[in-house]
Amino acid sequence: MTIPLNLQGQVAIVTGASSGLGYHFAQTLAAAGAKVAVAARRTDSLSDLVRKISAEDGRAIPIRLDVTDPQSISACIATAETELGPITILVNNAGIAVTKPALEIEQDEWNRVIDTNLNGVWHMAQQVARHMVRLGHGGSIINIASVLGERATGYVAGYCASKAAVINLTRALSIELARYDIRVNALAPGYIETDINREFLHGEAGEALKKRIPQRRFGQVQDLDGALLLLASEASRYITGSVITVDGGQSAAI
Ligand code: NAD
Repeated sequence: MTIPLNLQGQVAIVTGASSGLGYHFAQTLAAAGAKVAVAARRTDSLSDLVRKISAEDGRAIPIRLDVTDPQSISACIATAETELGPITILVNNAGIAVTKPALEIEQDEWNRVIDTNLNGVWHMAQQVARHMVRLGHGGSIINIASVLGERATGYVAGYCASKAAVINLTRALSIELARYDIRVNALAPGYIETDINREFLHGEAGEALKKRIPQRRFGQVQDLDGALLLLASEASRYITGSVITVDGGQSAAI
């Protein structure tokens, strides 16, 4: 029996692809055979990624995208469709955090987090789903949430609230979009090492955090490959409205 993790013939958009998880997700999808629109606010920061994917015989195009701007989202989807074909996979990855005590968060900081992490995910999902329905094919929408969408920690109130909302938005959309053969799931990573958090995770605070993870290590971007490919491919054809947690057991512990 073969497990259909192959993405040949699929077209994906990855938001926030210029760094961290998005950069890796794009490579993983391309390696599995998908054509990938790599989207970020600055296209110059995507040229390395496109080059790497091409060097591995993959196909990727850079597209300018600000997920807080619905017009930018429409333009991104139109370009991806024209250049690569009908979009069948959306990885809603762009996200930010403002780390501050709740009593000190300014209104514009709160708005920025909600605009990017929740409204951005919503507008991307709605516009890509409309595109899929218009073209009459199904697809897979993967929202990158966080273990902080189901549990919480201090100093990132907006982030926790936005990721919790993304998880329930995922469930709500999955119910409405199932009739169009569009699956909507969330991937909830724990602490995954990237360029941005590596220094913090290997500092004193990081060492304390690590002791609370049953597997006693932080995740590597490659640890998300299995869940990403499962959700992107036909292997998850009967999975929708689900949250897949990839956190070394962190959120299972009290
Ligand atoms: P990152 O900062 O490296 O990546 C975030 C990306 O989103 C960046 O490329 C950034 O430019 C982009 N972005 C931000 N605002 C945008 C906008 N308005 N429009 C388009 N792109 C925008 O961080 P990361 O760790 O790779 O995070 C990626 C996703 O994974 C985020 O949603 C984050 O919340 C989630 N996540 C990360 C971890 C982790 O440990 N790294 C854990 C759980 C969840």
